[in-house]
Formats: sequence, structure tokens, C-alpha cells
Amino acid sequence: MSVKVLFAAKDERWDDYAEPLAAACREAGVEADIALDHPPEEVDYIVYAPNGAVQDFRPFTNCKAVLNLWAGVEDVVGNPTLTQPLARMVDEGLTEGMVEWVTGHVLRHHLDIDRYIHGQDGVWRTGAPPLARDRRVGMLGLGALGRAAAGALAALHFDVAGWSRSPKEVPGVACFAGDDGLDAVLARSEILVLLLPLTEETENLLDTDRIARMPAGAVVINPGRGPLIDDAALLAALDDRHLGHATLDVFREEPLPPAHPFWAHRRVTVTPHIASETRPASASRVIAENIRRGEAGEPFLHLVDRDAGY
Ligand code: NAP
Repeated sequence: MSVKVLFAAKDERWDDYAEPLAAACREAGVEADIALDHPPEEVDYIVYAPNGAVQDFRPFTNCKAVLNLWAGVEDVVGNPTLTQPLARMVDEGLTEGMVEWVTGHVLRHHLDIDRYIHGQDGVWRTGAPPLARDRRVGMLGLGALGRAAAGALAALHFDVAGWSRSPKEVPGVACFAGDDGLDAVLARSEILVLLLPLTEETENLLDTDRIARMPAGAVVINPGRGPLIDDAALLAALDDRHLGHATLDVFREEPLPPAHPFWAHRRVTVTPHIASETRPASASRVIAENIRRGEAGEPFLHLVDRDAGY
């Protein structure tokens, strides 16, 4: 008998996922009936996105797992109706995209690319940029995305330090954990990248005090989540030039309202939450593998720690 899989991300994503999901299930040896609609009590697995229709999990009385299409789970992890195991998305396509976006924006600031692009004014600006090995980059978060991005920057010879909750080892990256570790990473980061999940512990992590610990002229790059940063503290630090620039992909309110000061600020770059996204072909293989595991009684991949919030 086939397992019933409810696709409960936004309906418009169905066209992207219907075929890859069916193919991935076939490849995983799972006979699956994947649809936008099933009687709730017959659903075995929910493929979920926080902006989809399902917000109340109580009717899904036989559901074995909720499989999130997104890496971030802050909008679902505290849902009191969710009693089923929740898996988040770790997708090689998503990771690849994030590595490229982070590397591109780090290189923009490292090489001071804007100075030469905007300087097509007849002024011969001498002096080559420093080498990556002389540039200190900090990576807050050494999970699936932060670890890969830190590793890619280290491969370009950047002097990279990373920070996580539990101690980590990443080749070529100086790894720190705990509050003292955060201070050490902040103090050395000329370019700081935030790839933390949004939890009670990480909200407003980058506040006035912590920004003050960063070197003068430092750049903040945030593809993590908007509320990791205290917006007012960031704007104040940019205005008094303690920070040189902020490149922000994520915001407290999305889309970022047109009147928000970030849009017009000379030292802020706004990108519209495009740093990376889950890619249907590779993500479908992750979903299918988790369904296979569920049916075989094996532990699910990428389970969310409901207490930690990620
Ligand atoms: P992940 O694998 O869960 O990694 C999270 C990392 O953050 C881990 O290293 C974790 O430490 C660390 N961390 C969590 N809480 C912490 C705390 N209180 N103090 C110190 N470190 C802490 O997540 P991921 O897959 O790398 O994704 C990270 C985030 O990126 C997602 O949650 C999402 O918000 C964001 N994202 C953004 C986009 C975009 O397009 N802008 C796309 C995808 C994801 P441990 O290693 O010790 O657990």
C-alpha cells in the first residue's frame, strides 16, 4: 500500500515539486501517493512550508513526520498543535547557493569592488586590495550553511573564525563556542556573516554592546534571519561610522516596507531574501530519504530539537 504524502507548502510550488518528489520517492523505493489534498487522518507524511495552508496539525492523527522544505523552522517549532517529529531541510542545492551568495558578498567588501565601480570618474585610484589571507572574517553559526560557507572562504585563504553553540571543528576555520567565544569572534571580524537560526537565544544577538566590540569600519552580512540584529543599534553604528556597511538579505518584516530606513541608507545593501532557496531536485531526495527511513523504522534525518528551537 502506498504512503500518503500531503504537499502542504504553497500550492504554487506544486508544479516545481510534483515530478521531482515522485521521482525521488521511486528512486528511494517508496511507493508514494503525493497530493495537495488527502483526508487528514490518512496522511502519513506532511511536506511542509511555514507559508502553506496547514497550521493546525491536530487532524493529522496518523502522520509520522512533518518534513519542512525550509532550513529555518522558527515559524513552526513552537506550534502547540505539532506533536509529530519535525525535520528541517538540509539540501545540497540550498547550501551551494548560500555558499555562492556569502562568498560573493564577502568578496565585494573585501575587494572594495564598489569603490572602483562607482569611481569611473577619471580618478586613478592606486593600491591593490589586500589578500584574503589578511582579511579576518567571522561566521556566526557553523551548521549546514555556516560550516560550508566558512569552509569555502577558508579555501580562498580568508582568515576565518566561526562560532556555534557546541564546540565544532571545521578545517581551516578557528572555531569558538560560548559567550567568550562570541566576544573573541566579534573582536576580530572585519567582515561578519550571520548564519544562525532565529531562536529565543539568538534574537537581537547583534546589539549595541556586541556591535561596539567589532573593529571600526567592520561590515555585517546577514543572510540568517532579520531579528538576529537589533535594527536600531545597527543603524546607529552605521550612522556614526563604527560599522562600514551592512548587507542584509533578511528582515523583521518581509517584504521590507518601502519606507524602512534600510532602503535609503548609503551604507546598507538590501537583497530581498534571495540568498538561497531549497532546490526541488536535491530537496526531494532528502524528503524521499526521510520517508524511506520512516517506513523502515530508521531515525529521521535533520530532526529539529524542539527545546533548542532549531
Ligand atoms: P543549522 O544547521 O541548524 O545550524 C545552525 C548553527 O547555529 C549551528 O552551528 C548552531 O550551533 C548555531 N547556533 C544556534 N543557536 C546558537 C546559539 N544560541 N549560540 C551559538 N550558536 C548557535 O542551520 P543552517 O541550515 O546552517 O541554517 C542557518 C539559518 O540560515 C537558518 O536557520 C535560516 O534562518 C537561515 N537561512 C536563510 C536563507 C536565506 O535565503 N536568507 C536560506 C536558508 C536558511 P550548534 O552547531 O552547536 O548546534
